[in-house]
Amino acid sequence: MTTAPLAAAAIAQLEAEGVDAVVGTVVNPAGLILAKAVPIRRTNTFAVPGMGASLVWHAFAIDQTGIAFTDRIGVVGDQRVRIDPSALRIIGDGLAWAPAGFFEQDGTPVPACSRGTLQRVEAALAEQGINAVVGHEIEFMLVDPDGGRLPSTLWAPYGLAGVLEREAFVRDVSAAATVAGVGIEQFHPEYGVNQFEISLTPQSPVAAADQLVLTRILIGRAARRHGLRVSLSPAPFADSVGSGAHQHFSLTTSEGPLFSGGSGAHGMTAAGESALAGVLDGLPEAQGVLCGSIVSGLRTRPGNWAGAYACWGAENREAALRFVAEGPANPYGGNVEVKVVDPSANPYFASAAILGLALDGITRNATLSPETTVDPAALSDSDRNRDCVVQLPQAQPEAIAALDNSARMRTILGDPAVDVIVAVRRLEHERYAHLDPAELADKFRMAWSV
Ligand code: GLU
Ligand code: MG
Repeated sequence: MTTAPLAAAAIAQLEAEGVDAVVGTVVNPAGLILAKAVPIRRTNTFAVPGMGASLVWHAFAIDQTGIAFTDRIGVVGDQRVRIDPSALRIIGDGLAWAPAGFFEQDGTPVPACSRGTLQRVEAALAEQGINAVVGHEIEFMLVDPDGGRLPSTLWAPYGLAGVLEREAFVRDVSAAATVAGVGIEQFHPEYGVNQFEISLTPQSPVAAADQLVLTRILIGRAARRHGLRVSLSPAPFADSVGSGAHQHFSLTTSEGPLFSGGSGAHGMTAAGESALAGVLDGLPEAQGVLCGSIVSGLRTRPGNWAGAYACWGAENREAALRFVAEGPANPYGGNVEVKVVDPSANPYFASAAILGLALDGITRNATLSPETTVDPAALSDSDRNRDCVVQLPQAQPEAIAALDNSARMRTILGDPAVDVIVAVRRLEHERYAHLDPAELADKFRMAWSV
């Protein structure tokens, strides 16, 4: 991470623009966004040496009290949260924001830091001459300040009524995004009542995850201004729609894109097919990273368009991996949408898992299994077996165990990261597995809200 300090003139410029404080954020393995704020004159100290943080920042659980202590994470020790000044943005109302990472007191990167992990994966791709781009989607549900349901009198899935009912909010978010330099591609009401979706401009992996975090901050602030709150739970209400956090990715080498212009399926190159195969093969082991919370299983069900089946298909919205081919309607070129990811995931770890698996597939020339061209739920068991299409488990312990036992994920993310992801998710299971779906959805509706 570059931690080149801001020049005195740049700090003076921020002050001249009315910025009083800079908020630095990290995302922990449970998907929680944690923060410290400093007065603007302390910006460079926030970059180096950074602000102190106990090791338990990695282990805070989603229930507002729990700490998943591990062999490595206890009450003794201190790390530094350092902002990346090169990514600092002015976000209005006297605040600036910057993404941060975890460093040891001596300045070396902390292995379990999610932003650092994604940087390592990005660098590993670059070493192989591969450039990755990631585009995030954010689905969220507007709720009242207590987390309760808002009225739904005027609403249709993708309906104009939703835009007009919340037009001041939509406008506020759009304006805030412009001020902060966030690229919103589109913003629309989703299927669920008071559920919206924002798609973000694709960027390099770390920058894209940073942008996603910033956007969550912007929508959280805008919702507050309208007396509302944002639920980022994968399943805000039981037996209702889920919210995904789909990630699109594409890969390019000096010879061109891997998902377009090739002679393979839908224009994929051989390396593109292997990349897709790598992600597909690794999905059951990565599930704990991509959608591994105690609430996630309420969403990853067939029929939810959440990619509950580990399979791939062009424009197949029930496949965990939806392939989007190059064409006139697709200005960004061929890409893969990983639909299983949900907003309980740490987006940096999720991208690191996806891209690490893609690289693994390329490295071992993985063979892509047959495409699923229909709703996978409509296939017979024997057809599913023939094409290696499996339904991802809804039971959290299975996903956690698959992650814990995965040599692949441990190679990609590193043991410290996998161990703490497993620990925070296990704590959820140990404490809350006895709750029924409605109780689970209620308890954690606002767990990831900011
Ligand atoms: N809300 C769905 C999910 O949980 C996705 C709907 C869509 O395809 O946009 O992933
Ligand atoms: Mg959607």
